Amino acid sequence: MTIKENIFEIEEDIKKYSQSNAKLLCVTKTIDITRIKEAYDIGYKEFGENKVQELLDKKEKMPKDINWHLIGHLQTNKVNKIVGEVGLIHSVDSIKLLKKINNRAYDLGIIQDILLQVNISKEDTKSGFYKEELEEVLKEANDLNSIKIRGFMTMAPYSENPENIRWVFKELKKEFDKFSDLSYNNIKLDYLSMGMTNDYKIALEEGANIIRVGSKIFGKREYNNV
Ligand SMILES: *Cc1c(COP(=O)(O)O)cnc(C)c1O
Repeated sequence: MTIKENIFEIEEDIKKYSQSNAKLLCVTKTIDITRIKEAYDIGYKEFGENKVQELLDKKEKMPKDINWHLIGHLQTNKVNKIVGEVGLIHSVDSIKLLKKINNRAYDLGIIQDILLQVNISKEDTKSGFYKEELEEVLKEANDLNSIKIRGFMTMAPYSENPENIRWVFKELKKEFDKFSDLSYNNIKLDYLSMGMTNDYKIALEEGANIIRVGSKIFGKREYNNV
């Protein structure tokens, strides 16, 4: 299968399983520029990377009209490099990070859009806020005027049978709906980023409106840099 065929198949699945006209974010980590350009040439302009330096290197080499997303864990010491370089940071997982991003965005005179990463399954190996913390985090964020919280992101545990993790997506959708009519001027929850190669159909059924897909588009990665 070519990149084009793979993307077409995912787009068909989006039509079939999504009630919210979800957006496909092409995850390009470890993928070389030539192959990313194939996706770009079909018309894709939203790409996700999980490492700051790799993202910046690729951004420099690719056309300028791409909207880059940072989807991997962000260390506070890399904040200054990435704020303002990406349309959306999916992986904000601490108040400290939230404040640091806010300060940097303030210095640059911009508003940085971000998502809060939520650790629904409470696995130790995953980062993210617990859902019980969200209310407090949103309250604290109310004073941070240089960020805009656009929604939530989660990663489900890997499971041979993705039906087993449907509950993870259901739970996050419930939180998303619970806070959806919050009216702070820097919080507008309109993105629900969930679902990867293994589980995106189920995430779509449960209300994801951004799916983050890598290996189904580009093939198996040669090395794993999660
Ligand atoms: C790698 C990655 C993806 C895509 O994973 P695939 O299984 O290759 O589709 C999605 N989200 C995050 C945060 C990732 O790191």
